[in-house]
Amino acid sequence: MSARMVVTGGAGFLGSHLCEHLLARGDRVVCVDDFSTGVRSNIQSLIAHPNFSLIEADVACGFTVEGPISAVLHLASPASPIDYLQRPLETMAVGSEGTRQCLELARDRGARFLMASTSEVYGEPAQHPQSESYWGNVNPIGPRSVYDEAKRFSEALTMAYHRLKLVDVAIVRIFNTYGPRLRPGDGRVVSNFIVQALTGQDLTVYGDGSQTRSLCYVDDEVRGIVAMLDSGLVGPVNLGNPEEHSVLELAQMVIAITRSSSKIAYKELPADDPTRRCPDISVATRDLSWQPTVELSGGLVRTTDWLRGELGSKAI
Ligand code: NAD
Ligand code: UDP
Repeated sequence: MSARMVVTGGAGFLGSHLCEHLLARGDRVVCVDDFSTGVRSNIQSLIAHPNFSLIEADVACGFTVEGPISAVLHLASPASPIDYLQRPLETMAVGSEGTRQCLELARDRGARFLMASTSEVYGEPAQHPQSESYWGNVNPIGPRSVYDEAKRFSEALTMAYHRLKLVDVAIVRIFNTYGPRLRPGDGRVVSNFIVQALTGQDLTVYGDGSQTRSLCYVDDEVRGIVAMLDSGLVGPVNLGNPEEHSVLELAQMVIAITRSSSKIAYKELPADDPTRRCPDISVATRDLSWQPTVELSGGLVRTTDWLRGELGSKAI
């Protein structure tokens, strides 16, 4: 019998690619999602798949999955800053009680549990690039803390279940990931810039654009998550692309790729926006034989093609 995976947040950007990847290799997939930030069209092509099923539920309120389970992959959580700032309490609920519910499910079925954590656990990093041994520098009372601390709590809870209840666990720290199925309006930098460039609006660079991010293409990220799932390692393991760019460079790249006449408009930098972020991926490279392969320019072209389709034919 093939493995049976529960993917919470499976209708989201990353989760839907992950569900597809698992189905393609022959696993059965149970997607649990409340469609708070995910969209049905992300899983439309999977609904008819005989090995795919959907449970519509808020994981923080409890949910039931019947039958044997090989692994629980917990991706449910708002991820874009505008989403989690609009849903601060839901974000903390899914990162606390939601994570506990998923860990209990894994414990009950003797399943492996994979926690989708984030580079945000490093906060405003004093170490650069960030390695897993760095404990981070998070403002515990700032607006972003609802996300950062929820993920830090999730990591702590995951390790407590591992130590106390001997649950087989894995923690991945996902760095900024982009690609097709980013919602055009989700507010993240790649979708914002591409949509703005395609529709002739100014690209909104926050602050002076000198802050950096390291962007990983979604196919690479999913491959890393699955390698971690299959590995038996506990982690945490950083999964991201160490190619680091300033936000201003990214804006200029997007304008060039889309051949847009858009200009750059500087806007206020959000509170606690990390000034730099770049993963040290030596653990993933050594222990998972994983490294990203898609270059930013190529990934941006693929994402642009997809967003152009989403926006309809009026784009350039
Ligand atoms: P997304 O918003 O596209 O997907 C999140 C999914 O979770 C959505 O389908 C949403 O409806 C669902 N969800 C949210 N709260 C839920 C709840 N209480 N119960 C059930 N479903 C719920 O975001 P994403 O970019 O796909 O992120 C997926 C995961 O990866 C998140 O946990 C996020 O923190 C993590 N992550 C993503 C990135 C990134 O760059 N994309 C970076 C670091 C970490
Ligand atoms: N950003 C920007 N303009 C936008 C959206 C984001 O300059 O329209 C910046 C944001 O301030 C941050 C970076 O781009 O420095 C990445 O933002 P995003 O929301 O994608 O993810 P974060 O890494 O902040 O979670």
